[in-house]
Amino acid sequence: MTMTTYNFSAGPGVIPEEVVTQVKNEFEKNEHTQLSIMEISHRSGTFQNIIFDAEQKLRELMAIPDEYAVVFLQGGGSLQFEMLPLNFATHQQNVALLDSGNFAAKAGEAIEALGKKLTVIDSTKQQHYQQLPSLPSDFNADDYDYLHIVTNNTIEGATFHQNNLPVTSGRLVADMSSNILAEPYDINTFDAVFAGGQKNLGPAGVTLAIVRKEWLDQQDITGVGPMMRYQNHIDKQSMFNTSPVFSIYVMDLVLNWVAQQGGVAEMHRRNLMKSQRLYDFIDQSDYFSAPVATEERSLTNIIFTTGDLQNDKAIAKQATQEGLFNLAGHRSVGGFRASLYNAQPIEAVDALISFLQKVEK
Ligand code: PLP
Repeated sequence: MTMTTYNFSAGPGVIPEEVVTQVKNEFEKNEHTQLSIMEISHRSGTFQNIIFDAEQKLRELMAIPDEYAVVFLQGGGSLQFEMLPLNFATHQQNVALLDSGNFAAKAGEAIEALGKKLTVIDSTKQQHYQQLPSLPSDFNADDYDYLHIVTNNTIEGATFHQNNLPVTSGRLVADMSSNILAEPYDINTFDAVFAGGQKNLGPAGVTLAIVRKEWLDQQDITGVGPMMRYQNHIDKQSMFNTSPVFSIYVMDLVLNWVAQQGGVAEMHRRNLMKSQRLYDFIDQSDYFSAPVATEERSLTNIIFTTGDLQNDKAIAKQATQEGLFNLAGHRSVGGFRASLYNAQPIEAVDALISFLQKVEK
């Protein structure tokens, strides 16, 4: 009998079973074109249809108005840390940051490396990022080109949900790499949003950026190279250079899967159920604990520990023998991290809880 296995990796994360099956079929050469999906040109009609469909699906799923451009890029979330300041930190040359975790800090480093000013408005580093930083009431948005936040902190597990987002009169940029399409956000709250593909959108290799067109129009970016300009990618419908064809193809299938399942509202319902079931177990346990402040807990990256990092490591290793993969926390924090992205079935959570119960006993 083959063992059922589950992948709790934080990214690249689990892809819906149905999508994996579809992709397998497309590896064969198409009888008309004699090409497999890995070989088609980004200039072909087949790909034009795919990328057009992906953009339309995303616009529908996230209710993205026409005032925003949607582009599919490469370089991961990390390149967005640089493209954003290059395109938008042009007036004050000063970016405000809420330091909520490792990926917020990394974005800050990139901003400074580009010679822009970084102002950390609040940081919860001293609290091991187990709670969110906040905007003080005297925050003066006019001093900054934008405020950078990370909606979901993939490593540490604290989340700005729509109802606890910082409220600013200025421009707001959000890194949604690890919770895009996992819970609803009102896109109108933001001036730019980005996400690497490899968690909730599909495989690694494609990065999504959504930018408010009117903000882009206000920029003088003399000296910024052509590949780093959003406008060039927008003008060429994400085909300014060779697109990551395969990654976009799989992303399109994933977006269609999300739509068929009932959209972001249904993903949110499932993610609340999955994460709550796991947090409930952890909270009643005398052995495991979840350190993040309750109302700020992530729906997609569930962080917990026994309090003994060596012990956690041994347990995560034991879990792999039972088909529960990639439960070890990020190397910088240790402990456990169970990533419950959209494609993670509830059965994975049940299997994990059964295993943890056994360990506790
Ligand atoms: N931002 C967040 C919230 C992430 O979780 C990650 C990666 O896990 C990144 C940015 C960096 O993304 P990439 O590795 O695609 O550059």
